[in-house]
Amino acid sequence: MTVVMNLGKFLGIPIYLHYTWFLIFTLITAALVTNFPEAYPLWQRIIFGIATSLLLFTSIVAHELAHSLIAIRNGIPVKGITLFIFGGVSQITKEATKPIVEFLIAVVGPLSSLIIAGVFSLAHLFLVRTGDVIVAVLVQWLVFINVMLALFNLIPGFPLDGGRIFRAFLWMRTGDYSKATRIATLAGRGIGFLFILGGIVIMIVLGQWFTGLWLAFIGWFLENAAMTSYRQALLRDALHGFTVRDVMTVDYPSISREITLGQLVRDYILPTGRRCFLVTKDGSLEGVVTLHNVKMIPQERWDSTSVREIMTPTSQLKVIHPEQSAVSLLELMDEGDVNQLPVVEGSKVIGMVARDGLLHFLRVRTELGI
Ligand SMILES: [Zn+2]
Repeated sequence: MTVVMNLGKFLGIPIYLHYTWFLIFTLITAALVTNFPEAYPLWQRIIFGIATSLLLFTSIVAHELAHSLIAIRNGIPVKGITLFIFGGVSQITKEATKPIVEFLIAVVGPLSSLIIAGVFSLAHLFLVRTGDVIVAVLVQWLVFINVMLALFNLIPGFPLDGGRIFRAFLWMRTGDYSKATRIATLAGRGIGFLFILGGIVIMIVLGQWFTGLWLAFIGWFLENAAMTSYRQALLRDALHGFTVRDVMTVDYPSISREITLGQLVRDYILPTGRRCFLVTKDGSLEGVVTLHNVKMIPQERWDSTSVREIMTPTSQLKVIHPEQSAVSLLELMDEGDVNQLPVVEGSKVIGMVARDGLLHFLRVRTELGI
């Protein structure tokens, strides 16, 4: 099931709608329509409601575009921008390599929201003069919401923009990226819990169920995101000093490209439960085939299709060298959205690394106390 809708590219950056976006879009439009003066006919209120919601989400896309464009300018690839129930998110594939870059990428978001608020505020002044009351009220709401967006994002808890600015600052002061990340993500978790607590108080004391629930929900989301980043920071720390050779497994499954998918499934996948196989010939890597590749082919064709036809050939593969650092390996996996990578020395395959293998490696070391 695809959970996102592709809206196409803007300034070279793909923009997606997550299905939860439709819920928030409907809620905001409905709130706008019901809060309009009833003197206006319903159809007019609906049209203005939809137009205002669309302008709000355009403002959010502009905020995210600012993050993405600055990232790209600094050589950091961006996969796209996704609008979802809590607003928007830029999928920036790599962490900044310098605090100043991280600071710039983060700060342009809230800054754009403030600039947009300024533009709407000028439009508001103009509209008040021309006497277009209903449009003026809507534009005023857009000013308010963009200012709120800037302020909310400036809260210093990772992964909010303010949290990233905070991390950049700590990083600059201490020179320790990892420590800065741990502190900023802990602040993010704290802020997440405060939102949850605040939400509960609003629900119980003020009886405002919807607002309370919404705040608690945002808090829960922030806490989760901060926790994930915190865990990643710990993982990076734990892998520090290790090379790919240390963490790779040498017992990788290798197959010939001439076997059929039927044979692959019966003789290799089912008995071992593995999901990724290296296709080799005399020790040289020819490609990789995964469970995902197999699933793309209808079952009745499995016995007439060979591995060669569906494998990802070496030319399209990312391979790693045994002397690379384990941390760079983690980045490479995140960037390419892959869970396994073949390790190649010279022209020969010497092993394989898998994401869960990294966790396994660390767990065993911890258990042995080394
Ligand atoms: Zn932002």
